[in-house]
Amino acid sequence: MAVIFKTEFIDNTIPNDPRLEELKYWCREFQKRNLTPLYKERSLGNLSFRIKDKHESFIITAAALALKDDLTDDSFVIIRSYDPERGIVFASGTKEPSSESVLHFSIYSKRKDVNAVFHGHSGRIIYSSDDLELASTKQFEQYGSIELVKSVLDVLGDELFLVMKKHGFLALGKNMEEAGTCAMKVYEQAQALKIQKIQSKHQEDRTSR
Ligand SMILES: [Zn+2]
Repeated sequence: MAVIFKTEFIDNTIPNDPRLEELKYWCREFQKRNLTPLYKERSLGNLSFRIKDKHESFIITAAALALKDDLTDDSFVIIRSYDPERGIVFASGTKEPSSESVLHFSIYSKRKDVNAVFHGHSGRIIYSSDDLELASTKQFEQYGSIELVKSVLDVLGDELFLVMKKHGFLALGKNMEEAGTCAMKVYEQAQALKIQKIQSKHQEDRTSR
C-alpha cells in the first residue's frame, strides 16, 4: 500500500497511557465483529484517540497489525504532528504508524469535539449505507491518499459516522466509548436490515409458490 507520508521518529517512546487498555478493548470488539477483517495476515482498519483535549497529538494503531492478536503497548504509536508541505508525520514509537494517520490527524484538526476516531471495514455496513441513510463520501479514493482525506473532509460536517465509499467507515466520538458504541450500533442496524431482507425474500418466495 502506497503511503503518502514519511514518518520521522522524534524518539522511540512507547505510549504509556492508561487509556490504551480501552483502545485495546475496542480493537478486540472490532475484530470480533469482523469490522477490521484480516487481509494477508493484517487487519484492515485503524483506531486512535486524542491524548489531550484540543491538542493535536493522538495515539493510533501501528501499521500492519493483526488485531486479533494480544496487543501490547508497542502496537501503538504516538503521532505528535504532521507537516503537510513536506508530507512528514512526526511520531514516537517503535513501529510505523497506520497508513491512515494523516486522515486521523486531519479529522482531529477540523473537529475539536472529536477525541476518538475508529476506522473499520465492513461490506455489511457499506451495502446498507443507502437504506440506513448514512453520510458518505462521494466517490472511492485510494487508501492512504490525500484525495481520500479530502473526500472525507468535504462531507465531514458535524457527522459522527460516515461511510468511505467502497472502502469502509469512520465512527467518531468525544471519547472512545462514544465512537465504539456508535460503530456497534450502526453495525447492528446493518445486520438487522440483512435479516429483515432475507425474511421478506422468504415471504415473497412462499407467496409466489
Ligand atoms: Zn481502510
